[in-house]
Amino acid sequence: MNTEPALPNVVTTVEALRREVAAARRRQQRIGLVPTMGALHEGHASLVRASKAQGHFTVVSIFVNPTQFAPGEDLDRYPRTLDADLAKLSACRADVAFVPSADEVYKPGHATSVDVDRLGRRWEGEHRPNHFRGVATVVLKLLNMAAPDVAYFGQKDYQQAAVIRRMVADLDVPVEIRVCPTVREPDGLAMSSRNVYLSPAARGRATVLWKSLCLAREMVAQGERDAAVLAEQMREVILSAEDARIDYIALADPDTLEPVERIDGPTLAAVAVTIENTRLIDNEILVP
Ligand code: AMP
Repeated sequence: MNTEPALPNVVTTVEALRREVAAARRRQQRIGLVPTMGALHEGHASLVRASKAQGHFTVVSIFVNPTQFAPGEDLDRYPRTLDADLAKLSACRADVAFVPSADEVYKPGHATSVDVDRLGRRWEGEHRPNHFRGVATVVLKLLNMAAPDVAYFGQKDYQQAAVIRRMVADLDVPVEIRVCPTVREPDGLAMSSRNVYLSPAARGRATVLWKSLCLAREMVAQGERDAAVLAEQMREVILSAEDARIDYIALADPDTLEPVERIDGPTLAAVAVTIENTRLIDNEILVP
């Protein structure tokens, strides 16, 4: 018996995707959607496995969305590894890979976008203007294309998940959003498609993000409650990497993302740091 998992069915048009989804619904299956930009790693695979574990007919979109990149960002050099991606999807038994072209997603004359106020303005929104407009717009489009019961996102992009939850609630999108834990390399670096940009030396230095979050967690466990003190200690850890440039260190309410001064309940610690021209983000919930 051949036990090799089959490749997922690859579809490139919205029409073909909807046919696949409709057929699954006729078989009484629920639909799970995992939106990605490809260059898949174990973080993405964990989302696919979470969907498959629920028995969902699992659609993985692979689309490097041009509207979420600012001019001068890495749109052109973003890693594109479709064959390897499909092999990974086959290993975690995704059902459909939706791999549309930019023209399929953004038809001529496209003029509508989604702006999530407040949540989307701070941190990433400040450093990457229009980023979340591109993300929210493409995610809403993917939700409308695949009409999933559940869509899966990673905690690694905490603010992105918060923005999408807000959008789904505000616009009455009938989907459940599930956020899965960040998958890390053995030394703690959060897996990211962008990690391949790092030279071996910079890859070593990149562990300072996770080290700073671990230190904050440790300090909170030992009773520290002052957010400014935590941020200062995190800053020192991050700047111990030569050439590290801090975009932000934030301690905030995990729901509203409003900054906090004291750690009185579960608190989001989030960092964005550029090392050797590669911008990295990470976060952890600190629990007093
Ligand atoms: P991306 O392809 O980077 O746009 O990511 C697609 C989805 O995978 C997003 O929901 C990310 O939050 C999630 N993701 C990326 N990296 C990780 C990771 N290390 N652990 C868990 N989820 C991740």
